[in-house]
Amino acid sequence: METKMNIDWANLGFGYLKTDYRFVSNYKDGRWDDGELTTDATITLNESAGVLQYAQTCFEGLKAYRTADGHVVCFRPDLNAKRMADSCRRLEMPVYPEEKFVEAIEKVVKANLDYVPPYGTGATLYLRPYMFGSNNVIGVKPAEEYQFRIFATPVGPYFKGGAKPITVRISDFDRAAPHGTGHIKAGLNYAMSLHAIVDAHKQGFNENIYLDPATRTKIEETGGANIIFVTKDNKVITPKSNTILPSITRRSLMYVAEHYLGLQAEEREVRLDEVKDFKECALCGTAAVLSPVGKIVDHGKEILLPSGMNEMGEITRKLYDTLTGIQMGRIEAPDGWIKVIS
Ligand SMILES: *Cc1c(COP(=O)(O)O)cnc(C)c1O
Repeated sequence: METKMNIDWANLGFGYLKTDYRFVSNYKDGRWDDGELTTDATITLNESAGVLQYAQTCFEGLKAYRTADGHVVCFRPDLNAKRMADSCRRLEMPVYPEEKFVEAIEKVVKANLDYVPPYGTGATLYLRPYMFGSNNVIGVKPAEEYQFRIFATPVGPYFKGGAKPITVRISDFDRAAPHGTGHIKAGLNYAMSLHAIVDAHKQGFNENIYLDPATRTKIEETGGANIIFVTKDNKVITPKSNTILPSITRRSLMYVAEHYLGLQAEEREVRLDEVKDFKECALCGTAAVLSPVGKIVDHGKEILLPSGMNEMGEITRKLYDTLTGIQMGRIEAPDGWIKVIS
């Protein structure tokens, strides 16, 4: 099915473009209402709303897109539902029921079907579920009323003209405290990363790699993506830590490495001082799937990955092609990974 929208899909950036419908559900007196689609993109809040005063908010991110055989699908939305429930529990927010979360995703995509980019453009319909404390609080405590919303916005291909390896620095800032909120998708984790990323860009780096906050000797992740490494004997390694956000892309890639590519895949602690021995490195998350890293700079000391600054490493490429092939319906998916919407 073709879309009738007059949008230049291939040249769309990663920005907000208002679509027709969004889903809204309100929590009041201890229960969620049925929720509904609305055309109103504006939120009116009391000046003392919990989200405005104490940042009581969390979010998710996933995509809807067209597959090779013409369906509109989402990739593992049940995992977004579960992760959001985990985020809510940690922030003392009411969980939005997981099945209803997936149903609401389906409603938003169906209502905005014309905004799902055509297959082959690399563009997708990005979905942003989120929740926030909506009633007024002034003493520090959880809000009593909440709003859960999902909006959709079409986004362009993450890499225009191929995925160029990026340069990242080891950050002097921390993104998460030990026993803090690094493992949940809270807006507050992003607020405190903004200074670090603006500074990184000023210094000529694409991203920050954060170290474990307790010892600053182990690799964690970047501000918005998990990290994978490939060893010289083709083992796929990802850092294990309870202050890392459990990326759905990363969990899927580790499965693909093991079950589709026959590689050993291991989640374990990764020391900064062993990074020089790896042959490939990449960032992973919903937006780009995989973003190859060519160079890691640790306070002036440059670590050049053998895969270089021109193209993705061989294993990174295989992982990328296989996972995007599964997502786009060109390769058979494991049970339950693809949710067909229409
Ligand atoms: C969202 C996010 C990721 C990526 O998760 P995906 O589920 O793969 O999109 C990684 N790290 C952080 C800090 C995130 O917020």
